[in-house]
Amino acid sequence: MTNPITFAFKSKGRLALIKRARSIAKRYSLTPIQMDRALQQFSDVLQRFDCGATLPITAVTLKRHSDTITKYLDKNFEFAVHGFTHVDYSHLAPELQAAHLHLARQVFTQAGINPTGFRSPYLSRESNLNSAIKSAGYSYVSNQPILWDVIVPDALNPFATTGYEQAVAFYNPWRIGERLSLPLLKDQLVEIPVSLPDDEILIDRLGGANDIVKETWLRILSQSYKLGELFTLQLHPERIKLCADGLLAVLSKACALTPKVWCARLDEIATWWKARSEATIEVSTKNDGEYHCIVNGPNGTTVLARAVQVNIPSSPWMNGYRALKATHFNVQSPMRPFIGVSPSTSIELLHFLRQQGFLVEISQESMLYSCFIDQVNYDGSQERAVLDKIEGTGCSLIRLGRWPDGAQSALAVTGDIDALTLWDYGLRLIGK
Ligand SMILES: [Zn+2]
Repeated sequence: MTNPITFAFKSKGRLALIKRARSIAKRYSLTPIQMDRALQQFSDVLQRFDCGATLPITAVTLKRHSDTITKYLDKNFEFAVHGFTHVDYSHLAPELQAAHLHLARQVFTQAGINPTGFRSPYLSRESNLNSAIKSAGYSYVSNQPILWDVIVPDALNPFATTGYEQAVAFYNPWRIGERLSLPLLKDQLVEIPVSLPDDEILIDRLGGANDIVKETWLRILSQSYKLGELFTLQLHPERIKLCADGLLAVLSKACALTPKVWCARLDEIATWWKARSEATIEVSTKNDGEYHCIVNGPNGTTVLARAVQVNIPSSPWMNGYRALKATHFNVQSPMRPFIGVSPSTSIELLHFLRQQGFLVEISQESMLYSCFIDQVNYDGSQERAVLDKIEGTGCSLIRLGRWPDGAQSALAVTGDIDALTLWDYGLRLIGK
C-alpha cells in the first residue's frame, strides 16, 4: 500500500504540501467544533436554494463522529462512502478492496445510514475496483475526474502553473473536449464524473480565494448548461469559508436559468440515470412518414422533438428541440426520426447512444433514416465527436431529454470529508 504522506507529496508537490500543512492547522481543530461549523455554513448556503449535497466521508471518520454527522441527515445531505480508511484503493488487492467496502458499509449501517455511492480517496480508480464496488451493493461510483476548459495555464504565475500541471498530471482527468460530463450506466453501476478544477486546485494550488472560485465555477456552469451536461462541483467542507461566495453565485445563477438546471444529490442522479436509461419508445408506423410513439419512462421523462410535425402541444426548448407535453403522440417525418445504425456498428457505441436518450434502430437501410451511423470501431474518447456530429446535422429526431422535467443540465454539489479534527487528519496520514 502507498504511504499516504508519499502519496500526498506526489499529488501536490513539495511547496503545495508545506502550504497545505499550514492550512490544515487553520481548517481543523482538536475537536469537531470547527468542522461542525463548516458543515453548518455549507448547509445554510444550500438551504437558501433548497438544494441538497453529497458528502462522501471516510468510514473511520464517521465512526469517530457519528453524532456530529448524523444530525445533518435531515438537511438534505447524502453521505456516501469515501473509503473505509483514506487510502489509495487502486493499490489494494481485490480481497482487501472488498473487505474495506464491506467494513465501510457496516460502519454506515451502524450510524443509521444506508450508503448507495462510493468515491475513492484521491479519486483513485482501476479496472477491478468498480466490480468490487458493485458487488458490495453500491449503485454508483464517482471517481472519474473530468477537466473543464476554464483555466489557461499560460496566464498563471509560475508557482500556480506548476501546481496546476501537477494536479492535472496526478488526476489524469478526462478532457471535456473529448468526453461528456454525464453519468454512464455500466453493468448496473452508474459512473458519475466529478468536475475539475475543484476547490483544492483553485485554493491550494492556484492560491485563489472566492473570486477565482466564483469565476471558474460560473464558467463551468455556463459550459455545462450549454452542453446539457452535469457539473459535479467538488467543495471540501473545510474550505467552505473560502468558497461560499462561489457556491452562492453558482446556485443563484443555476436557479435563475430557464429551462432549469436540475440540482440534485449523486444518489438522486444515479437513480434517475438508471431509470431513464431503461425508458423505452415504442414506435408503430401509421402511414408512410407517420409514426405513433409511446414513451414508457420514469416520472419526469421529457420527450424532445426536432424538425418534425407532432400532433400534441409542445414548447420551445434548447438547440432547436421542442419539449412535448405528452408521452403518446403521432409524429410526421419524411424519414424515420430516429438514429439508424448498421448491424456492424460497435455495441459500445449503441449503448452510449441509447443512454443519451436516442431511439436507436439497427438497420441496413441507411436511406430510411434522417441520421445513420456505420461505425465499427468506437471507444469513449470519441463520444464528444459522435454526439457533435448528430447534433450538428439538425436532422429530424425524437429523443428523450437527459434530465427530469425538462431540465437542460444538472448540478450536483459534493464535498469529500476526510477528517473532522486534527487527530483524524493525523491518523489519516498513517492510513488509519
Ligand atoms: Zn479525501
